[in-house]
Amino acid sequence: MSCIFCQIINREAPASIVYEDDLAIAFLDIEPVSEGHVLVIPKSHHARFAEMNPKTAGHLFEVAHKILKAIQASNIPCEGANLFLTDGEIAGQEVMHSHLHIAPRIRGDKHRYGYVHAEQSDYPRERLNQIADEISKLLNP
Ligand code: 5GP
Ligand code: ZN
Repeated sequence: MSCIFCQIINREAPASIVYEDDLAIAFLDIEPVSEGHVLVIPKSHHARFAEMNPKTAGHLFEVAHKILKAIQASNIPCEGANLFLTDGEIAGQEVMHSHLHIAPRIRGDKHRYGYVHAEQSDYPRERLNQIADEISKLLNP
């Protein structure tokens, strides 16, 4: 298996593991954006987030919740954190084994969001409602 994250799960590649259970494993990012940058990954290989079973997807957030509390209780500087997931190359995903990032943030760390927001006037309520309908009609009740 050439997936580096599967190799970490199988102990075929080294990693600094912080947590493991039946469904997930979490370890430190090898090129952290901040001290304590953790990746939470499912033990099953899925390139994309939506390919995961929903229970597994939800579990990643449960694990991230535990880990963030541990980081906050530790000596690692953490005034806030970004929890993020890059889904697909266009969104910046480099390792095609879907994973959730936890990146502690501190004042003055120089990180910035890369998003460009539209003006509210570009999305009047009618347009927002159309988009919401487009999504909600495909969701199960
Ligand atoms: P992505 O850009 O796919 O959302 O994030 C991939 C992350 O995995 C990057 O932050 C990168 O530093 C990290 N990474 C890549 N290869 C390895 C590795 O072999 N071990 C660990 N621990 N992290 C890795
Ligand atoms: Zn994998």
